[in-house]
Amino acid sequence: IHSDEERDSLALKCADRSYNIGKSKSYLDIRKIVKIAKQGNCDAIHPGYGFLSENPKFAKLCERKGITFIGTSSRMIKKLGDKVEAKKSMLKAGVPVIEGVREDLRSKRHALSVARRIGFPVIIKASSGGGGKGMRIVAKEDDIFNAYGSAKKEALNAFGDDAVYIERYLEEPSHIEFQILADKYGNVVHLGERDCSVQRRHQKLIEESPSPALSKELREILGTAAVNAVKAIGYEGAGTVEFLLDKSKNFYFIEMNTRIQVEHGVTEMVTNVDLVKEQIKLAEGAKLAYKQEDIKVEGHAIECRINAEDTSNDFAPCPGTIINYLPPGGPGIRISSSCHAGHTILPHFDSLIALLICHGKTRQEAILRMKRSLDEFVIEGVKTTIPFHRLVLSKRQFLKGRVTTSFIENNYIMQELKNLKPKKDILPKDKKVLIVTTAVSQYLAGKQQASNNKSKINPWVMAARQESMNEGSFEE
Ligand code: ADP
Repeated sequence: IHSDEERDSLALKCADRSYNIGKSKSYLDIRKIVKIAKQGNCDAIHPGYGFLSENPKFAKLCERKGITFIGTSSRMIKKLGDKVEAKKSMLKAGVPVIEGVREDLRSKRHALSVARRIGFPVIIKASSGGGGKGMRIVAKEDDIFNAYGSAKKEALNAFGDDAVYIERYLEEPSHIEFQILADKYGNVVHLGERDCSVQRRHQKLIEESPSPALSKELREILGTAAVNAVKAIGYEGAGTVEFLLDKSKNFYFIEMNTRIQVEHGVTEMVTNVDLVKEQIKLAEGAKLAYKQEDIKVEGHAIECRINAEDTSNDFAPCPGTIINYLPPGGPGIRISSSCHAGHTILPHFDSLIALLICHGKTRQEAILRMKRSLDEFVIEGVKTTIPFHRLVLSKRQFLKGRVTTSFIENNYIMQELKNLKPKKDILPKDKKVLIVTTAVSQYLAGKQQASNNKSKINPWVMAARQESMNEGSFEE
């Protein structure tokens, strides 16, 4: 499916069949999407990692209409989507959670009394939260009423639910999350962890696996805790159990994501397991193809999210047309992107241009490959987060693997970014007009070709897709 605004997208050009859902906001119109799926004889929907991937109403509607939602059940999405409920379930499963209330706050006075009990600093968080929205760190009593009011307001705007809760604020923790796969028969494995401590405003920017913050023993303890928690709640499908690790190496559950995450490619690079393929097989009712001892984490992978954002202006989104696009390559380099010269980054959606993942035998090799890839990656026409990533990868603290969630603020990286001189464009200005014109005419030629081939799905493509789903130890 595509929206009016995405008529020029590469995905649309490559698709065997496509359906227009209208304006971009229709991606939230669950009835419309399910109706189109029915029209197109779809027997399953993969919700990706945006918009509806964690919407229990969407999953429920699919279930009711006999379409397999490739993800966990609507009941489970609902249970884990409420962070307070999720914490209660984890506590029952014996997983440590951060001290705080396990109920939504009733009033600002309630917030104050809880904060006094657990001690400052505290953090107020949205119960339906995500993407770091609706969070307020409160260092002292005087600020709690204001923070409570503004967190509630932001939560209502972002999630249509103003429920907030409170917990102890951990100073300089690491964010460590475990990828898990679970089948309908109670089998669960974890595929190691991802360290997502490089964050700005509680949003992830760089992810890596394995985490430099974990020893072998601690990895074993956290991984077992994640698997046991998932078993205890009866979760099915792919999911991520997120923890914070404090300076004394105590760990606490913060939330469970019930979708495939943006950063899942990092795990795929070190485990060689195709997570989306496994998701589809699990949704079909297959038995898990792996036992824990089959999962081998090999080498090290790092991901940088390349967004169309102006890093010298507080990461403001920078939509526009890409004029020159030359991605890096070589051993161990993976790029997930649908961008090309002539592609327009739309203001309606996330500003992601590309996910750049580098794998190496060691962390050092992965970093060196990432540095080279960032230097070679040419994206002209829009501002990108590449200068930010280059700066982070030059920092001693990052190189030593001692990053915590306060790393960006503590290193004055935002200030340093403002003073960076922009890299010179490769293409001279007059050539750019020519390139865009060429890209557009190539696109139009492709579109003509695509419309000539419409409804003729290449049998080779279909056979290859079928084969790739059937290989390995898939049990029917
Ligand atoms: P969201 O769902 O909005 O992404 P999370 O609960 O997953 O929120 O937390 C996102 C980030 O916010 C964490 O990785 C961490 O940096 C910070 N954070 C959340 N809770 C705490 C806490 N109690 N103490 C310190 N930092 C926290």
